[in-house]
Amino acid sequence: MVLRSQTIRLAIMVSTLIISAIIVFQLIWLRKVYNYEQKEFDHSIARAVRNFYDDMDSDVNPLAHLSDLITKKDNLTYFIRLNKPGDYDSLAYYLHSELEDENVFTDCFFGVFDATSKRYVFDTYLPSAASKHVPNVDLPESQEPYSHITLFFPHRQQYILSLMDFWLITSALLLVVLILFSGSLYYFYRQKFLNETQKDFINNFTHEFKTPVSVINLAAETLENPDMLNKPERLIKYAGIVKYQGKYLQDQIERLLHYAHAESNHLHLEKSEVHLHTVIEEALDNLQPLTSEKNAAIERHFEAVNDLMLSDRGYLLIVVTNLIENALKYARQPKVIISTKKENGSFLLSVKDNGIGIEQKHLNKIFKKFYRVVNGEQASGRGFGLGLAFVKRIINAHNGKIFVESIPGIGSNFIIKLPTGADRKR
Ligand code: ADP
Repeated sequence: MVLRSQTIRLAIMVSTLIISAIIVFQLIWLRKVYNYEQKEFDHSIARAVRNFYDDMDSDVNPLAHLSDLITKKDNLTYFIRLNKPGDYDSLAYYLHSELEDENVFTDCFFGVFDATSKRYVFDTYLPSAASKHVPNVDLPESQEPYSHITLFFPHRQQYILSLMDFWLITSALLLVVLILFSGSLYYFYRQKFLNETQKDFINNFTHEFKTPVSVINLAAETLENPDMLNKPERLIKYAGIVKYQGKYLQDQIERLLHYAHAESNHLHLEKSEVHLHTVIEEALDNLQPLTSEKNAAIERHFEAVNDLMLSDRGYLLIVVTNLIENALKYARQPKVIISTKKENGSFLLSVKDNGIGIEQKHLNKIFKKFYRVVNGEQASGRGFGLGLAFVKRIINAHNGKIFVESIPGIGSNFIIKLPTGADRKR
């Protein structure tokens, strides 16, 4: 089965959704693990304190609720009620060993707050195996009305994250795998798209050149016939066909060279004062053979009284020619209405036709390089799918805009808006 780039694009969209869902679930999962570890830490402290009270043989009622004995001031600080003064060094020692028994392996500041003098009367640092030096921090202030031990864990967050090492590393690995996967999928799509574009271009190119060459060959064969010398009017007719097709081929080659040149170089505008209506007339003159061939009706509604503008004449001619040519190409019995008007310092040029029209879903894409609407009727108009892309580039370079309105089966209207002479420096 041959996969079209559109199928791959769909696959990319679905995979993007799945990948986003995986990432969201992974983040939710990480958050859950983090919350669990935080709770576990609190529980370990609670158990250690309960054992500590047992060790100290304190006068605290063994049935007293732990939450009455421990106050969590913030994420890093716990206050533990101290009803009976004792040897502070041994208090610290016992509490430290209880903490270690409960697998709390992070460093901690231990302080004894005396409610009568409202200050710390003792403090010490309880290191962990990972501690390298004593952190330069003070014990948190206390306003409590009772005496208490303060336990302050300066590295609690880091410690909890270190407990989550496994989850963080696997999440990072998963993310890397997902990024690589998306990257390769996108690369595959680009390659496929480029291949298809190249193939479409070669097809269009062959189609575009094959017909005139066959016509020229046929005409040449006819001209070779000695009888022709006796029929000068037929001779002139066939010579005319060869000339017409030759000119057509030459125009197409020049156009391709033009695109290729403009593509590989920055679009350099040489602006001068140009009469828009004169440029339209020149485009119509150039398209005279196609107009006659299609028996087209052209209507001019030139409302812009002063049609002088600052623009690159050559490029403007390409724009107008392309739009009118398409209007003629994509209609069976073309009726083309060309209108101009001036509005807020800009020219509005509209090229409206009664052709096959363009479906809504193609409207944005027709300005992309090589894009052609593929359907039965479309075969009536030949081309490379480059014209509108080039038109748009030229309009952008002039700080203008291009819009299209179209109803399939009824016709299309291409409208360009160009500043009359703003941006004079370029
Ligand atoms: P080309 O005409 O060489 O194919 P363009 O870039 O000029 O390339 O146009 C791109 C596509 O847009 C055309 O293939 C055609 O399908 C569609 N299109 C352009 N102009 C018209 C129009 N006036 N009416 C209907 N379809 C049009």
